[in-house]
Amino acid sequence: MSQQPNLREAELGLRAIEGLAVQRDVDLSGLTRFGIGGPADILADTDQPEAFATAVRLCREHRAPYYVLGNGTNVIVSDAGFRGVILRFTACSIDHAGARLESDAGASLEALVDTAVEASLKGLETLARIPGSVGAAVYGNAGAYGHSISESVEWVRFFDGETVRQVDNAGCEFEYRGSLFKRNKGWMIFRCGLALDLADGKELRKIADDITAVRDEKFPPSMRCAGSIFKNLHVKDLPPEVVSEVPERAIREGKVASAFFLDRVGAKGMRRGGIVIADYHANLIYNEGDGTAAELRSLISELKAKIAERYGFEVEEEVQYVGDFSP
Ligand SMILES: Cc1cc2nc3c(=O)[nH]c(=O)nc-3n(C[C@H](O)[C@H](O)[C@H](O)COP(=O)(O)OP(=O)(O)OC[C@H]3O[C@@H](n4cnc5c(N)ncnc54)[C@H](O)[C@@H]3O)c2cc1C
Repeated sequence: MSQQPNLREAELGLRAIEGLAVQRDVDLSGLTRFGIGGPADILADTDQPEAFATAVRLCREHRAPYYVLGNGTNVIVSDAGFRGVILRFTACSIDHAGARLESDAGASLEALVDTAVEASLKGLETLARIPGSVGAAVYGNAGAYGHSISESVEWVRFFDGETVRQVDNAGCEFEYRGSLFKRNKGWMIFRCGLALDLADGKELRKIADDITAVRDEKFPPSMRCAGSIFKNLHVKDLPPEVVSEVPERAIREGKVASAFFLDRVGAKGMRRGGIVIADYHANLIYNEGDGTAAELRSLISELKAKIAERYGFEVEEEVQYVGDFSP
């Protein structure tokens, strides 16, 4: 069967699902923080887990490619867009009881952090101003300032393509910027529970506000970017001759910032068309306004090649690619 008839069948089926809003030919550049990317054949949004699960089953049945998108702050969509169905889970309620929070995956992480701080609950305040949804934060184990969301997650409810399941913290198999969900593409997080500690709300507010101010300077809210492009590197995974070049002060919690190496291969200020590397941060790539995914991908490849050539190891993207990037 060719892709086209499958997609048409899938679209008809999707339009019949109650609670699913279906649009055709949606420009994905408007749904990503980079402001880059061509159209998706179909965009389907729902705040109902059952409608979402039915949509995934239908895509599978018709072999229609699908991709789960959050708020688009950590993806690069190809210039040709996505031939298939982009699915978004938009439920966004956050509930609070005692020292516990429960959040739908579609809530913004910033709203979750604010709820915790307002409730004098410690554990999420260092994640202040990390953009994106709670679902993606769990998927990628988002974190900053030495802490990550995995420290607070108690359980996660998700759809594995066949059934809805729930796992506890250990079952999430969290790791640095990763989890069970990241290793299983197409799984969908619906909701999670978090256990926090009671603390002084004023102190938490100060920590969150201070971090927000620093982050707004580094990543101005209007900047079209994905935060850091590359993951930091575990010292234990680096060749010994490379580690010997790294000063003690550049090692934190067993990791070296990839910006350290990118800086040394001259990344700061490099550009390709409308895509620029910040002159103050070698791991921050942004779109000046008219950049393309091809330019972005090409600049990323050049940086990877420079690091491999000079240091003999690979830097790995934190950002996720959506669509076809074959030359
Ligand atoms: C200015 C800026 C600063 C940033 N700083 C940080 C930082 O300090 N620390 C950090 O960790 N990250 C940081 N990021 C990256 C980004 O904020 C996180 O990766 C965030 O969790 C992405 O959320 P999103 O909803 O935009 O996800 P998207 O970009 O839409 O998607 C990212 C991935 O998550 C998957 N996904 C989305 N929703 C779900 C779901 N419900 N279930 C399963 N999978 C899902 C998608 O399939 C995709 O693979 C930064 C980004 C920006 C733009």
